Amino acid sequence: MDLHTYLRNFPDAQGRFGEYGGVYLPDELVPAFEEITEAYQTIAHSAQFINELRRIRKQFQGRPTPVYHCERLSRHLGTSQIYLKREDLNHTGAHKLNHCMGEGLLAKYMGKKRIIAETGAGQHGVALATAAAFFGLECEIHMGAVDIAKQAPNVTRMKILGAKVVPVTHGLQSLKEAVDSAFESYLNSYQDSIYCIGSVVGPHPFPQMVRDFQMCIGVEAREQFLEMTGLLPDAVCACVGGGSNSMGMFTAFLGDPLDIYGVEPLGKGPRLGDHSASITYGRKGVLHGFESIMLQDEDGNPGPVHSVASGLDYPSVGPEHAYLHDIGRVNYVTATDEEAVDAFFKLSRYEGIIPALESSHAIAYAMKWARENRGGAILVNCSGRGDKDVDYVVEHYGYGEDHQFPA
Ligand SMILES: *Cc1c(COP(=O)(O)O)cnc(C)c1O
Repeated sequence: MDLHTYLRNFPDAQGRFGEYGGVYLPDELVPAFEEITEAYQTIAHSAQFINELRRIRKQFQGRPTPVYHCERLSRHLGTSQIYLKREDLNHTGAHKLNHCMGEGLLAKYMGKKRIIAETGAGQHGVALATAAAFFGLECEIHMGAVDIAKQAPNVTRMKILGAKVVPVTHGLQSLKEAVDSAFESYLNSYQDSIYCIGSVVGPHPFPQMVRDFQMCIGVEAREQFLEMTGLLPDAVCACVGGGSNSMGMFTAFLGDPLDIYGVEPLGKGPRLGDHSASITYGRKGVLHGFESIMLQDEDGNPGPVHSVASGLDYPSVGPEHAYLHDIGRVNYVTATDEEAVDAFFKLSRYEGIIPALESSHAIAYAMKWARENRGGAILVNCSGRGDKDVDYVVEHYGYGEDHQFPA
């Protein structure tokens, strides 16, 4: 496909990628999202906005992040070469800041004084609180009481950064209730607030806007890889939760003759409730204001999910991924909890890089690819660093000595 034609046509004016995407909202919220769409289509494409975002990326975030050749790991696996795009070196340790700084800058240009969001594991909350501090905006993060107890360090970081963390104490007290609570707060205050979604999900324009803000990953990586090797890689891969780091990586390569792999979390196995592989095992449905492929129980409710990586356990996926799956441009594959933990230790031991458990899924698939393909090169997005995961990993798997890793 031709990349420029693709970007001109997807999403369409209704915010659709083929049959997916769109806007499914209560009537009262529609004007608020229309205001964001209009602002995004005008302000965010002005030279002033783009130049300011460039300056922020370079001076505050530390972009461009490098591409790194994993020589020792590659040699251990065979004759193929693994390269990492080091989003773990982005400020705050993951790719999420890329779209949070874009959303924060848009809020500023729109004259809003507050940004509102929900967070599950707290990674989006921390990135957004960082952006709010940078731009001098108020920040209100809705979080289930259960998640607040589980993710204490991220709650602490948000508070140090000046965010107000709103505990949600009804229902399961987790992500779904936090979304409802954040929407309600937004409904009451959208004149001076903006809602900031944490991935390429939600109603239009968020799947497009977050993709565009994340596209710097793939644009940089493509140029860096060409400069390092004189060629394009044979394959590109990234992990898929909601799908933002992967869309950021994939978009720049959609027009190139190479294979693209989105890696979904297979958790403990293919039974409903044991994994979060939405595209692999899901079907069409509407959740959180957009249509996509989602995991559902027999009654059509969002399915229960699990992954060792808390940033990947979402029962749906960005609508553009559903579309790219249907047209066959991106291959969606899986990695289990065990394969991800194996990759976590391998990258740590062979390269001195401790990856996030989310990113470890992409690295696990790249390792499999490298074993099966002789003499090729695969470029993997290392979406974040694993500091947040070390206590969990050591508690459940020790330091790696006693764990039976996949062959
Ligand atoms: C949140 C997170 C993810 C998953 O989100 P996507 O929108 O699928 O990218 C992946 N990696 C890291 C490090 C994260 O924090």
